[in-house]
Amino acid sequence: FVIPDFTNFCRDIEAIYWHCKSSAGGKVASYIPQLARYDPNFWGVSVCTVDGQRYCIGDVTVPFTVQSISKPLTYGLVLDELGEDMVHQYVGQEPSGRMFNELVLDHNKKPHNPMINAGAIIVCSLLQTLAHKEMNLAERFDHVKQYFSRLAGDEYVGFNNAVFLSEREAADRNYALGFYMRENKCFPTKSNLREVMDFYFQCCAMETTCDAMSVMAATLANGGICPTSEEKVMSTDSVRDVLSLMHSCGMYDYSGQFAFNVGLPAKSGVSGGMMLVVPNVMGICLWSPPLDMYGNSVRGIQFCSELVNMFNFHRYDNL
Ligand code: GLN
Repeated sequence: FVIPDFTNFCRDIEAIYWHCKSSAGGKVASYIPQLARYDPNFWGVSVCTVDGQRYCIGDVTVPFTVQSISKPLTYGLVLDELGEDMVHQYVGQEPSGRMFNELVLDHNKKPHNPMINAGAIIVCSLLQTLAHKEMNLAERFDHVKQYFSRLAGDEYVGFNNAVFLSEREAADRNYALGFYMRENKCFPTKSNLREVMDFYFQCCAMETTCDAMSVMAATLANGGICPTSEEKVMSTDSVRDVLSLMHSCGMYDYSGQFAFNVGLPAKSGVSGGMMLVVPNVMGICLWSPPLDMYGNSVRGIQFCSELVNMFNFHRYDNL
């Protein structure tokens, strides 16, 4: 086993869980009513090791929408389908140093990276116009949803239509990003902006649980092979690229501090979810709706710093 004394390890995880549970800071996202209604007390932690050992505590079976955590997943999919060279003609690899929905492009007039809204919208347009041209909108939706399911070893991945509809109504900034990028010729030819935006909102409105998302994280930790189904879902090269950008850009405008303090690839979403990857060891999903000023889960961030204080998981521990 990759964690020899799993029972003791779980005891420590449980201690951190209870410690974070008492934290009261942060605010639940309120830009759409479906997110605003989430109880700020929800708190779940799920662990899945690369050899399939599982541990969970708290609200680990309550569905929540993946939101920005879809970004590394759709980025992995487009890398698998089009390859790194093609994808990075349209999107960069540099942290933007700004908020996730900032109206800004890099010096080449491309979105900075695929982990912010602008870059993820471009990834969606690549999936629609360059990969699987023969698919219609319904097939493409199913294709992405099935990819998410396979990453989760067929555990729960659903779709929240109310969130999708609300996102689309409350999307002035995302449309502004879309138009700004169209003006700057960021999209591949033949992209239909309205269809691209819908597809982006659909990816954000995919729904999962803490348990299922810990398996997705473990699939990344395991080089693309799902530890529960043993299926090779993402190519090893794509996983490397996904984890690299999660490491430098996954936590919004807190990414640099997170890389310094925690030293692990992670991705957060506005619903309070967080996917944390300990390469070759395990995937962890943390979920708690209250967010800090950057848009990251308050309890999620606290958990990560306590985790690396207790264990040598930081990339530059053990030197
Ligand atoms: N649906 C959100 C948006 O596009 C996702 C962003 C996030 O999770 N930070 O604004």
